Amino acid sequence: MIKMTDEIEPRFVEESFINLNPIQRGGIASLAARKAVISYVDGYSICDYCLGCVNKIKKPPVEEFLTQVSEFLGMDYTILTNGCREAVYAVFHSLLKPDDTIVVDANRHYTTIVAAENIGLRIFEIENSGYPEFKINPDNYQRVFDEIKNKTGKYPKLALLTHIDGSYGNLVDAKKVSKICSDYKIPFLLNAAYSSGRMAVNGKNLGADFIATSCHKGWAIGGGNAGFLSITEKWRDKILRVSKEYEAKQLEILGCSTRGSVVPALLASFPYVTERIKHWDEEVEKTRFFIKGAEKLGLKQLGEKPHNHDLVLLETKLFHDISKKHKKGGYFLYHELRKRNITGIKPGLTKQFKASIYGLNKEQISYVLDAFKDIIEGR
Ligand SMILES: *Cc1c(COP(=O)(O)O)cnc(C)c1O
Repeated sequence: MIKMTDEIEPRFVEESFINLNPIQRGGIASLAARKAVISYVDGYSICDYCLGCVNKIKKPPVEEFLTQVSEFLGMDYTILTNGCREAVYAVFHSLLKPDDTIVVDANRHYTTIVAAENIGLRIFEIENSGYPEFKINPDNYQRVFDEIKNKTGKYPKLALLTHIDGSYGNLVDAKKVSKICSDYKIPFLLNAAYSSGRMAVNGKNLGADFIATSCHKGWAIGGGNAGFLSITEKWRDKILRVSKEYEAKQLEILGCSTRGSVVPALLASFPYVTERIKHWDEEVEKTRFFIKGAEKLGLKQLGEKPHNHDLVLLETKLFHDISKKHKKGGYFLYHELRKRNITGIKPGLTKQFKASIYGLNKEQISYVLDAFKDIIEGR
């Protein structure tokens, strides 16, 4: 048995390492968020001035914040959720019944499937282009809608697009998908887990009925658990249904969703997030610099080219060859990188791995590339 102690070993990742973990880079807390978290660390402290629902709190100004988020995302209403997955699930659950049909892209996150399974939906996938780019062609939504009509007699009840997927970091033209959905009168849910908070996302421009956001992934709030569900006016009564007995309590989020220190952290990070998305072009440019450097060393970037997002999947045969002879086997790369104060690559992986340099500077990126070079050359 592990002896429990009140001394948890402190985590010094952002302080001591260059962290390449794509799932973490957009969630690294701003200074303001760190302060807010500490001050609201106690249970239910966000509810000091509760008005029946976390989305309605005026002190701190959560309600006003959510109004501003809706404006920022070009939507009409936004509520807090327990991450992107709860937002996706709330849309599915509000609109669909068991055996209803939905269309999703093949690069979708596992939570999309789990949410659909939990309701008993029939899932049709838009295939990707396969190795090496794995691209989703928006035009295929039309073809698959027609195929479903032929097969089942009805068009699907909802379509979901993963704006940026978490496997390849591919960006899909959401506007093209929404145009097809609107021609077929099929509601369109945009999963913006990897886009919102990093790059400009405007639901009105993109034609989204719903946007699901992950805040611990893309809104610089650090740990904890938070997301947004943003919707257009048309869907208000369907999605924001309240309890008959407790009229302040929205049913889809079981009355109140994410609570606690992530909420003030979100408010505190908002000015930082609205500013940083203006510099997205620089992030893409740095990512391409990173890819170019990695490919010069003999590694290969998978996913779309040129790349439009910081999440990069690298095929790394050179590292795999080394691992076959190394006494640490597949774990050698993780250890070699740790020695050089680089972390965030999944331990054990050498054939391919995901990395992100989001928010790092050119000097840090060059340091990572030099480390790759030294490891390849056995230094
Ligand atoms: C990370 C991710 C999710 C899950 O987000 P949570 O906020 O943890 O629920 C869902 N969809 C995509 C595309 C993701 O990348």
